[in-house]
Amino acid sequence: APGLYLVATPIGNLEDITLRALRVLRSVDRIACEDTRQTQKLLNHFVIETKTTSVHEHNEAGRAAGLVEEIRSGVRIAVVTDAGMPGISDPGMHLARAVIEAGLNVIPVPGANAALTALIASGLDTERFLFEGFLPPRQGARQARLTALRASLPEDAAGPLTVVLYEAPHRILETLADIAVVYGADCRIALARELTKLHEEFLRGTVTEVESLLAERDRVRGEMVLLVEVQPATAGEAAGTVSLLERIAE
Ligand code: SAM
Repeated sequence: APGLYLVATPIGNLEDITLRALRVLRSVDRIACEDTRQTQKLLNHFVIETKTTSVHEHNEAGRAAGLVEEIRSGVRIAVVTDAGMPGISDPGMHLARAVIEAGLNVIPVPGANAALTALIASGLDTERFLFEGFLPPRQGARQARLTALRASLPEDAAGPLTVVLYEAPHRILETLADIAVVYGADCRIALARELTKLHEEFLRGTVTEVESLLAERDRVRGEMVLLVEVQPATAGEAAGTVSLLERIAE
């Protein structure tokens, strides 16, 4: 059927593409890619000859109207990003919304996603979690976001909340330092590196423990997901946050 197919692709291990994703990518009229060169490697590997075009962060909104018209005229378009699920810290959301608003079909084709893959093996609570994606790059804004995340947890919460973050290797040490400042050095975390790849690794423990494991290395490399166990604030801390937010508002 005509529509927009949001197709998940592997986050490292090519075996994680689904049979359905392969069939959809082979049979659609066109594949809109975040980076056509990156996707071409995947298509070559699986001998898929479908035409590609580029849709990235900077032209996604502008491309939407044209794609909607094509879909209306019966064209089937797949959207893929460099890795994982479209729309998750990646292009896809604007296109999906435009197609839905036009009353046309949006079809999800599920598969790999770094956040959920890290979460299920983290050892942290999987019952309640919050996906926050990338934190702000500047320290002040990052600490403020961490503080606000904790404040959003109800005081009577049954247990901790696992916050799932994407982070770049060159910023991980700064972010861990901020987590120690805001949540305390004994806050439990898990750092998932290079998921589904040859050097997949999980570092689990308190912030201090994970920091000292990383300090033994010359450089921290690879793609990573950081998971943080956030405990509800005590009544006193919650009141402190409220008065802080009030002071900022004044
Ligand atoms: N759309 C993707 C998804 O569904 O997971 C995420 C795209 S986001 C631009 C890229 C970030 O995801 C990386 O910076 C890293 O934090 C995380 N990531 C992607 N692949 C990963 C992997 N194999 N191992 C660990 N983290 C990964």
